[in-house]
Amino acid sequence: MSTQAHRLEGIEMIRIGILDLQGDVSEHFKITEKSLKNMNIESQVLKVKTASDVSACDGMIISGGESTVIGKLMEKTGIKKEILTKKIPVMGTCAGMVLLSTKTDYEQSLLGLIDMKVKRNGFGRQRSSFEDEIEIFGGKYKGIFIRAPYVSEVGDDVEILASYQDKIVAVAFGNHIATAFHPELTDDTRIHEYFIKEVLNCVE
Ligand code: GLN
Repeated sequence: MSTQAHRLEGIEMIRIGILDLQGDVSEHFKITEKSLKNMNIESQVLKVKTASDVSACDGMIISGGESTVIGKLMEKTGIKKEILTKKIPVMGTCAGMVLLSTKTDYEQSLLGLIDMKVKRNGFGRQRSSFEDEIEIFGGKYKGIFIRAPYVSEVGDDVEILASYQDKIVAVAFGNHIATAFHPELTDDTRIHEYFIKEVLNCVE
C-alpha cells in the first residue's frame, strides 16, 4: 500500500470541487485529476455550480476569469456562504487569488480567506499576458500570467511562496493557497499537489 493510500485509511475518498460559474474550468479539472492520480489518492473531481455542490467537497479551486463577475455569482448562488460556513480549504488562481483576498483596490464581493491586499491587473494592461520563469518550492517553474494580479500587502501569518519582479505572486495561509499565475495551463502538478495535501490534512 502506498503512503498516501495508507494515510487515507478510514477515509472513503476526497472530493475536490472546481468552481464552474464563469470562464473555462476544464484545465483545472484535468490537472487536478492528474495530480490526484500521481498521488495515488482515491478521489473525485466535481464541478461546483450550486451551494449544495459545495457541501459535497473537501476542498475547492477557484480559477481565473473575471473576479467581479465570479464574486457576484458566488453570492447569488449561496456558494460564498457555504464555503465560509464549511471552512474548507480553497485554492485560487488569478481571479481566484483576488477572490480569496481580504482587500482589493476595487469594491467587490470577496471571500476574505487570505489576509492580504491584492492589486488587480497589477502587471499592467500593456503587458497583460506573459510567461516567465519564477521560483517556487525551491525549484524553477513556468509562470503564466494573464491580466494577473499581485499581492501588495500580507498579514503576519501569510507565507510567501513566490515573488516575481519584487512582487508577491503566490501565498499560503491556513489551508488556503493563491497564485497570481495559472498553474492549470502548465503540465506541472506541484502546486495542485501542495493544495491536495492541505485538503488531506483537513479531512484526516
Ligand atoms: N484581472 C482579472 C480580475 O481581476 C483576473 C484575470 C484572470 O483571471 N486571468 O478578475
